[in-house]
Amino acid sequence: MTEEQGSQWVSSEKDSFLFANIPATYYQTPIQELLERGGRIKKALGKDLLILAHHYQQDDTFSLADFSGDSLYLAQQAAKARAKYIVFAGVHFMAESADILTGDDQIVTLPNLTAGCSMADMADHDQVEDAFEQVEEITGAKVIPVTYINSTAATKAFTAQKGGVVCTSSNSGKILKWAFSVGQKVFFFPDQFLGINTALAMGIPREEIVLWRRDKHDGGLSPEALKRAKVILWDGFCSVHQRFTPAHVAAVRKRIPDVTVMVHPECPAETVAAADFSGSTSEILKKVTEAPKGSKWAIGTEINMVNRMARDFKAKDGKYIEVLNPTVCICSTMYRNHPAHVLWVLDHLAKGEVIHRILVPEPIKSQSRAALTRMLELSA
Ligand code: SF4
Repeated sequence: MTEEQGSQWVSSEKDSFLFANIPATYYQTPIQELLERGGRIKKALGKDLLILAHHYQQDDTFSLADFSGDSLYLAQQAAKARAKYIVFAGVHFMAESADILTGDDQIVTLPNLTAGCSMADMADHDQVEDAFEQVEEITGAKVIPVTYINSTAATKAFTAQKGGVVCTSSNSGKILKWAFSVGQKVFFFPDQFLGINTALAMGIPREEIVLWRRDKHDGGLSPEALKRAKVILWDGFCSVHQRFTPAHVAAVRKRIPDVTVMVHPECPAETVAAADFSGSTSEILKKVTEAPKGSKWAIGTEINMVNRMARDFKAKDGKYIEVLNPTVCICSTMYRNHPAHVLWVLDHLAKGEVIHRILVPEPIKSQSRAALTRMLELSA
């Protein structure tokens, strides 16, 4: 294969890290062939196989999915799935949630085991537990832990033990409302921005929302500040969404006066305040779908999703869509699930072999299921 033919090949110098952990025969195969072979295995395995893909997944991998959506929708699909094999084209915590919600006879795999989430990694189980206990001790209040689904199974299990619940960006308002119906304060982790945006939208004043800093004694907070707070936020964030700023909103409004700006609630509160709307990826899709033909949008979320929307909505009804921050806002870990990785997993499944299984151990699995199931019930 020559340099000229390179565009149809997946192997290149820059991709060497991406493909470090799979055989060269896979990453040297043209994309079209990978997709055709993947399609044949899907057909052969029929109902035994379910492929789920998050909205942020790269296009080629996305095209292999049976269902695509946001974290809540994908968790709901996993919970009702009957397939023997579930291939999750997402990141590690999503595949963990799918394993927690499926039966012991079902197998969940992640095409590339290095596809993690930097935000989930910011909330270490021991650190979270220590901080929570300190908040309880200092305030003497009934504190309810609420963990964003972008977190490890161990922290979800801890949440369940303490009477808390999981949330997603689609249902965080509903979940926080429930938490305040059973407790006096909410300990929200790992995403400070989803936490503050949800709390502000519920009308909780800023003075009653505090940030627990992992690197500080007592989170860097005085006893008075903790006692006054209704919401205590962990200091995690999404490395992709924190890149959208009010300056980007101002710039696009100046350039396109009739633009509508919509951002994900993992963006900073100032960015959400400057935008016209904020919502989960499913809400973003719904809003644009229902908008008038020819409308113009600047969207603050992951670039693979925004580029796909820009292409599809332009062709469908002439809507114009661009990403709010023109410098690369890509979820580089989600991106690691290339069709070459998916096919490598599928080839094994076709032979009845399993690689890259995500298996949450007991008792974490049963405990974390309680926090996830509570979320699904509250979201129904
Ligand atoms: S976009 Fe951010 S929060 Fe979502 S999976 Fe990627 S790093 Fe994690």
